[in-house]
Amino acid sequence: MSDKSIFSKIIDGEIPADKLYEDDQCIVIQDIQPKAPTHLLIIPKQPIPMLVEARPEHQALLGHLLLVVGEMARRTGCEDGFRLVINNGEGGGQTVFHLHMHLLGNKKFDEDDLAS
Ligand code: 5GP
Repeated sequence: MSDKSIFSKIIDGEIPADKLYEDDQCIVIQDIQPKAPTHLLIIPKQPIPMLVEARPEHQALLGHLLLVVGEMARRTGCEDGFRLVINNGEGGGQTVFHLHMHLLGNKKFDEDDLAS
C-alpha cells in the first residue's frame, strides 16, 4: 500500500487537481473544503510531514513558500488582508501529514480571535 500523502499524489499527477501555481519547489491548489472565499494550500513538493520536523536544510524552502504566499495573495486580491495558517500535528488540527500552508483571504477576520 502506498504511504504517499494525498498531496504527494496531487503533486505527482496521480489525483487530478487544478494547480493555480507550480514551480520546482511547490504547488498551490484550492482547498477542497474552503473556509474563506479565498482558501489556498501552498504545498512543498518535498514531503515534510509537519512543520516541527523541518530542519535547517529546509530554511530556503520555507522562505520560498512564504514568498509564494505573498505572490498568491496579490494574484487573488487579498494582499491587504489575509491569514496564513499552518496546522501542526493532530492537536493542532492537522489532517494531512504533508506540510502545507493555508492562505485564507477575501474575508473579514476577527482581530480578537486568532485561534478559532
Ligand atoms: P490540515 O487540516 O491538514 O491543515 O489541512 C488539510 C486541508 O486539505 C483541509 O483543509 C482539507 O480540506 C484539504 N484537502 C484534503 N484533501 C484534499 C484534496 O484531495 N484536495 C484538495 N484540494 N484539498 C484537500
